[in-house]
Amino acid sequence: MTDNYLKRQKIISIVAIASSITACSIAPGTSPQSGLNQPLSKIHTALQDPAKGQIKAQLPPSAQVENPTFTIPAKFQGKTVYKVQPSNNEKVIALSIDDGPWPKTTLEMLDILKQNDVKATFFWVGQALQANPDLAKREVAEGHAIGNHTWHHWYRQMDEATAKSEIDRTADLIYKTTGVKTALFRPPGGFLNNGLAAYAKSQKDAVIMWSLTSADTDPHAKPQAFVNNVLKGAKPGFIVLMHDGGGDRRRTVEALPQIISGLKQQGYRFVTIPELLQMKE
Ligand SMILES: [Zn+2]
Repeated sequence: MTDNYLKRQKIISIVAIASSITACSIAPGTSPQSGLNQPLSKIHTALQDPAKGQIKAQLPPSAQVENPTFTIPAKFQGKTVYKVQPSNNEKVIALSIDDGPWPKTTLEMLDILKQNDVKATFFWVGQALQANPDLAKREVAEGHAIGNHTWHHWYRQMDEATAKSEIDRTADLIYKTTGVKTALFRPPGGFLNNGLAAYAKSQKDAVIMWSLTSADTDPHAKPQAFVNNVLKGAKPGFIVLMHDGGGDRRRTVEALPQIISGLKQQGYRFVTIPELLQMKE
């Protein structure tokens, strides 16, 4: 674990504490903490029970209207996915963006994606989501797909109860904030053997890895290097890794327009990961 990572965890904690006061105002009359501890099935029961309509009224408008659900075909349930091989080698590619929602950089990336009519897949960290619920709502409203990236972004070995809590607590907050249910899970750091991926698979989630990284976590590289990494390595059906949060991602923001235009020049069409998983192989 790097110093940078610890520093960033500290920043996340401070942001999370600072925002917990505003988070209370989202759901008046209910403690966010008690909501987080409720399993999804309980929330569902409450939604279906007219006598408890109060809970529905507390959900954000997006949750009441759309309730996007990012499901996956049966063949990917409980499986680890690095890429998809589309039929006819069709030039599709999926951008995946991790560790947000994050102040400023997420907003800037959303603007760039919108200007270019590109839909991406964002993997949220529960703590960051708790601190930035409005950014999360905008991501969903603009048609991006959402995945679960755990509550704390821990790399260490976890027992089953901890792994369950890391994933379920985040899933509950994703649902509570945006009405989204997702079967996409990405393990922090891509670690597949610390208990998290095993728990996600037991829940029939797809463990979504990547086939190409922008390497935007390299603290010394210039934005042009991220652009080159993606444009030189792109292949049909690939999942590209980049970050909007978890640190200073200004260089990723700077690289994103060239990544998009370069891939378009190569003939690629952008799809979300749920769309990619639906494609015929
Ligand atoms: Zn991450």
